[in-house]
Amino acid sequence: MKVECIFCKIINGEIPSKKIYEDENVLAFLDINPSSPGHTLVVPKRHILDFQEIDDDDLLNLMKICKNLSKKIVSVLDADGYSILQNNGIAQDVKHFHLHIIPKYSNDKTMDIDEVYKKITNE
Ligand code: AMP
Ligand code: ZN
Repeated sequence: MKVECIFCKIINGEIPSKKIYEDENVLAFLDINPSSPGHTLVVPKRHILDFQEIDDDDLLNLMKICKNLSKKIVSVLDADGYSILQNNGIAQDVKHFHLHIIPKYSNDKTMDIDEVYKKITNE
């Protein structure tokens, strides 16, 4: 764990997050500043910098989880599409590898993060 890394702190439970998926190696949580309702970040629990640093097996595992989660998010939130995004270098604000799942809606959809969280987690 990198002490100053915000995503490591989330993984570690030092900073709260709205978790929507967790297993031994991967955590997914809602983006605090969503581009659209349901904007989700999928992260490896081990601190890895970026697309070049992540090993192929970890990347494949993350992509599989991302694929399943995207399907669920789109279905539950009734989205009309989605983008998968991954930033590096100056494009990357948080220096801990992550995939963005960004749902797309044909009509402007507003939903607050608590409502999104309830729908996805069925709470
Ligand atoms: P990137 O530019 O790909 O590094 O994007 C980083 C993302 O992390 C942005 O969309 C931020 O809104 C998001 N983010 C930053 N801090 C938090 C946090 N504490 N909880 C959830 N998402 C966060
Ligand atoms: Zn980290």
